[in-house]
Amino acid sequence: MSAAPRKLTLDEWEGRYAELRRAGLQEASYGGPLGRHVLEERDLRLRHLRFDNSAAALGLWNFLLSENERLAQARTRGDKIVGAMKDLGTVPVMACALRGVRAFYPDGAWWTPCLMECSDGLLQQAETLGLDASFCPVRAMLAAFQNGEHFPRPDLLICSTGAVCDDFSAIAQRLEKLGFPIEWWEMPRRRAPEPHETSCALPGNLSAPQVQVECVRDELARLGKLLGDLAGQALDSAALAEGIRQANRVRRLLATLRHAVYGSPGVPLPALEMLIAEMLAIHFCSDREETIRVLTGLLAEVRERLELGQSVLDEDAVRVFWVNPVADLRAMNQLEDWGGRIAGSDYMFTHALDLIPEDLPPLEALARTALADPMVGSTLDRARRIVADCRAWRAEAVVVSRIPGASHCAQEGTLIRQLVREELGLPAIELEIPPICDALLPTLSSRIQALLETARAKRR
Ligand code: SF4
Repeated sequence: MSAAPRKLTLDEWEGRYAELRRAGLQEASYGGPLGRHVLEERDLRLRHLRFDNSAAALGLWNFLLSENERLAQARTRGDKIVGAMKDLGTVPVMACALRGVRAFYPDGAWWTPCLMECSDGLLQQAETLGLDASFCPVRAMLAAFQNGEHFPRPDLLICSTGAVCDDFSAIAQRLEKLGFPIEWWEMPRRRAPEPHETSCALPGNLSAPQVQVECVRDELARLGKLLGDLAGQALDSAALAEGIRQANRVRRLLATLRHAVYGSPGVPLPALEMLIAEMLAIHFCSDREETIRVLTGLLAEVRERLELGQSVLDEDAVRVFWVNPVADLRAMNQLEDWGGRIAGSDYMFTHALDLIPEDLPPLEALARTALADPMVGSTLDRARRIVADCRAWRAEAVVVSRIPGASHCAQEGTLIRQLVREELGLPAIELEIPPICDALLPTLSSRIQALLETARAKRR
């Protein structure tokens, strides 16, 4: 079934799918040809993307694109559905530690307008609810809740508050006013410990005062009780410790995959599939065991390609560290077409990639990991980690991709680029990727190609 790695259009995948089926492809229950997501769910953007040609990548895409369908099936089977909002990687670890509970991020609806090329009308509907384009695309979530056409209404909705951007705070409050009760939990803004305070080490080489860790730990304990009540079983220390071990299985697989792909001279897996794979860390795409299976398949494919010396791109592609997820997935394809490759990333959830300590009481360990969220601390903390990761992955250039309307830090791009230049002397740019970037391709092309040329010139 193996073939030399290359990227295929959706149409080309039809032939590849038939070939794989003839060769005996075994698929999960949510498997099938990629084109069905266009026909059945109107994921029209897929027609403009190019996909890795491996069976493992097919499994990844089908897993991602079947999430709403799988959630609906889980609801029919009697599973409880938890909607976690904003924390990106903490509440799902707790929810998935309980039998018969699934967690997802309604926030993920921000990709729906891109996938459906705005035919869903979510952004327009959000505007009628008072959320115009001055808000980030996560406003699509509000409309998706209201029309009920994308994901099932959760049995329990949990949202962090405190160290949360204005956009999300406003949107979530509006959601509650529309009749969707929310269980709020406090996430303090991470700060450095004062000299008189006990300092606590966090994943990602960060630290926070013990008092902040205790605050988050107590909040998580309260959520644990609510989740346990929902599931009809206690989320005790033993159950949570096992949940953490399983979450770390996912995180270890991702760490190995990122190391193999970003660390290699060639490119054994394209940027788009790597972005999707990394996203699995935050809530396991509503199915932790299947996430482990999908990532194991991708890793096997990558290892085989590395052994055979195969690469999807030329080895001289410029090594780019990418900051923030893109609203339009096509941007990841375009970067590679213009001569770049991803060699390191911060898609706003690096704390969901870090291992959760297993040698601490489980709630304490999870609280420390939650506090390592790059979006709850200073941008300087985030920039320092980006610099360290750029060094580790030998990045040659940095792209900070702005999210339209996003309020999380108006100065983020400037601060990150400044530190990258000062510490590493790397070229860095900031640009904005809207939910459909087609009209901006000429501008994006010249800006990114200029960046890549500058990085190439520095090789001489
Ligand atoms: S403003 Fe930034 S942090 Fe807030 S929801 Fe939008 S992308 Fe996320």
